[in-house]
Amino acid sequence: MKQSAEMNRRQFVQLATITAAGAAMLPGHARAATASQTLPALPYAFDALEPHIDARTMEIHHGKHHATYVAGLNAALEKVPDLAKHPLDHVLTGLPAVADESVRTALRNHGGGHWNHTFFWEIMTPAAKSGAPSEKLAAAINEAFGSMDDFKKAFNEAAAKRFGSGWAWLVLKDGKLKITSTPNQDNPLMKGLVPDAELGTPLLGLDVWEHAYYLHYQNRRADYIGAWWNVVNWAAVSKRFAEASK
Ligand code: MN
Repeated sequence: MKQSAEMNRRQFVQLATITAAGAAMLPGHARAATASQTLPALPYAFDALEPHIDARTMEIHHGKHHATYVAGLNAALEKVPDLAKHPLDHVLTGLPAVADESVRTALRNHGGGHWNHTFFWEIMTPAAKSGAPSEKLAAAINEAFGSMDDFKKAFNEAAAKRFGSGWAWLVLKDGKLKITSTPNQDNPLMKGLVPDAELGTPLLGLDVWEHAYYLHYQNRRADYIGAWWNVVNWAAVSKRFAEASK
């Protein structure tokens, strides 16, 4: 009896280990699109970005808001199995070709939400690890905007001026750095859908939906934007810049 219970426990542990290893390789992490996208684990603890972004906000933002986008995306992908075989980036760039308007809208909102939040978690890190842009990225920022301070000022303005919910972005477009912003969960990959935005490869993005800051900052979006710079993961942003520049 005891031996059997022990065997079951060991089998359970083995199974749990195998399942966890499989989950780590699920396509959500590589952004391949299948009808079973998963919520990626945060790359740090909920309280890791304190005091700049509070733990409760991170917990709800990741566990509720991002999770809702993943569920909505999966529901939409089930209706377009051919498109669901492709990586999520491809789905987002190909949205205008999706004939059914309700499916297209769901893919836009929930697919954008999943892509944007996965990206957002990755370009942040605890303040102690924030670091600085690589030499090449710093040089490109200076060339495009004059100085790091001027770049931040222009980015902050884009983030502050986004009316209602949306995102501010730094993108690489035709080899040039550009600052832009998008409404809702749109992003600079969505060709043909966001006429006012600069399309390009996102390098840095800031969520300015109220759900990203309201618990701690209430209406003070500018304070949230200012504090957020402390937790930018410059190593991750520099890596994206190097890859996009190839
Ligand atoms: Mn958000």
